[in-house]
Amino acid sequence: MKPTPEELQQIVDEVYAAARKESGGEVASYIPELGKADANHFGISICDLDGGLMHAGDTDHPFTIQSISKVITYACALETCDREAIDQRVDIEPTGEDFDSIIKLDRHQRPFNPMVNAGAIAITDLLLSRFGKNALGATLEFYARLLGRADLEIDEKVFNSEVSTGKKNLATANLLKHFSLLDNEVDDVIELYCRHCSVLVTAVDLARLGANLARAGGHGLFSRPDTCRHVLSVMMTCGMYNDAGQWALDVGYPAKSGISGGMTASVPGRMGVGVFSPPVNELGSSVRGWAANRLISSKLGLHLFTCKE
Ligand code: GLU
Repeated sequence: MKPTPEELQQIVDEVYAAARKESGGEVASYIPELGKADANHFGISICDLDGGLMHAGDTDHPFTIQSISKVITYACALETCDREAIDQRVDIEPTGEDFDSIIKLDRHQRPFNPMVNAGAIAITDLLLSRFGKNALGATLEFYARLLGRADLEIDEKVFNSEVSTGKKNLATANLLKHFSLLDNEVDDVIELYCRHCSVLVTAVDLARLGANLARAGGHGLFSRPDTCRHVLSVMMTCGMYNDAGQWALDVGYPAKSGISGGMTASVPGRMGVGVFSPPVNELGSSVRGWAANRLISSKLGLHLFTCKE
């Protein structure tokens, strides 16, 4: 039976209290500005498909979206660009490598999936070609729609910190250019990619994003019928860095984590979950975000591959 909003709120409170005890992980600092985050911030938000919100903790605290931007960037391309062009640029298979690795890219000669840096940079290039000078405005409008808010801001400090230190992303983009997978100038593509990563969000926004994907196109957010199916499938297989298999087993619904400690999850036909907690595991996912979703999944019986009698 579907829980009432009050029952859901109680579960969120219990999960918050239990996941708070997880003390592992470290705040990422390879982008120097991210290293300044307070490791104690922790918020969980659930958004049901009617837009009802249940939350606990620091759910209004803003942080940069980082890799969760890849979900929205990919959805935006699926909605606005030629599907064949997308398929030719980027595969949809897990890499088995870190999110910013270029080892296999050199051999494979195209990105493995849109949830790792190489794939997202290639998709960003398509959007830059599609919208030209208006690319930032057009894509942020789409971001605002999926996040359910009108007033998006970019954290300029994080953006500058990433642009000035992100030599590996530059190497990735140059490799993509070498393989003729970027039509635009490397610096322009990296700038748009880093701006997308520096969009400020809250756990509530990430819960709304998850819920919007969970509605599978309801409420007129998507114009192409299979956009959500594409996005959720790739989140399921590639969304949780190199931990996606373990996540599928432990939690069992599509999600995407970001290096600043954010996590969005989408339970098709049920709800979205947003979590923020900066300490991340060795692969890049929020430790408390993982624990919270494992508990939410088991308490509410949300694992997609559990047979229901
Ligand atoms: N902006 C980050 C990068 O490109 C995103 C990484 C992440 O969140 O996984 O390295």
